[in-house]
Amino acid sequence: MVAIRLFKKGDGFVQCLICAHKCRIKEDKLGVCKTVLNKGGELYSINYGILVAQSVDPVEKKPLFHFLPGTFSYSIASPGCNFRCLGCQNADISQSYRDGGYKPYLEYFKGLKRTPPEEVVESAIKANCRSISYTYTDPAVFFDYSLDVMELAHKNGLKNVFVTNGYYTEESVAAVKGLLDAANIDIKFFNDSSYRRICGGRLEPVLEAVKMFHENGVHLELTTLLIDEYNNTPKEVKDIADFIVSVSPDLPWHISRFFPLYKMKDGQVTQQESIINAYNIGKDAGLKYIYAGNIRLNGYEDAVCPSCKKLLIKRRGYSILENNVINGNCKFCGYKIYGVFE
Ligand code: SF4
Repeated sequence: MVAIRLFKKGDGFVQCLICAHKCRIKEDKLGVCKTVLNKGGELYSINYGILVAQSVDPVEKKPLFHFLPGTFSYSIASPGCNFRCLGCQNADISQSYRDGGYKPYLEYFKGLKRTPPEEVVESAIKANCRSISYTYTDPAVFFDYSLDVMELAHKNGLKNVFVTNGYYTEESVAAVKGLLDAANIDIKFFNDSSYRRICGGRLEPVLEAVKMFHENGVHLELTTLLIDEYNNTPKEVKDIADFIVSVSPDLPWHISRFFPLYKMKDGQVTQQESIINAYNIGKDAGLKYIYAGNIRLNGYEDAVCPSCKKLLIKRRGYSILENNVINGNCKFCGYKIYGVFE
């Protein structure tokens, strides 16, 4: 176990400051994510260095469409999550402990291999990756390990990417300042009660984190999984789009198709028309870059120059078929395109 960096001592508890749950953890107890333990009045990460996923992904899979397009990102995850989303697509690694796995819990973790941060960075370099992504589960549950890998990654010329529910605090956003280069943050709903019921979180901290990361110069892209039953109304879609515009109309927005999974197996697959409607609502709100995800919709994965309207990047799935961005500018009219390009 490794001591965590962000905490505050209270009367009979220690408060974890990594995520917006801000758990007050008593002696021998765990936080909501079940990855932070109070032992002897100190907080420890029990899954430090335990990796349940290591793979080489196109950065477009995160999804990040404006961050080093066409490159690979070495993607890692540790088990657990600070959310309990009913439609989670990685429930086998994020929700296992909630579903009765990893028993006896603390003993189970003691026996697992821990991967030193150096090994992750070496593997990323060997695999010709340009970045390391902290993904699949939420980086909040392997935050201290991520910080250690991120520092080494930067020293070795690699960028760092969070794929996250965005449930961060002022303290954790500050801790990754200068280390985190890009993030894809979910804005799952624009409704606090849906956040509480479906994910076990709240809306406001996510919105605040988006603003704070943006102010700190982190390259941001946002994702919304469009679910008929919960957020697929013109008002909620417009509320999300308006919020993103209020931060910056440059921020790319990925609207993803929902497939019934995990505890939402009875839900409906999002219809193609719904994705197109949401795309149009986002465009009317003033967003410059919107992309359809988890669906093949000709033209809706492409980037178009907001100024001259010519095709910038043509994509099919994670592949780039044509790229007309030169040094971060539109090849045709010179318009500066939001993002980090070669
Ligand atoms: S990371 Fe979040 S959920 Fe886990 S203990 Fe810390 S505040 Fe609680």
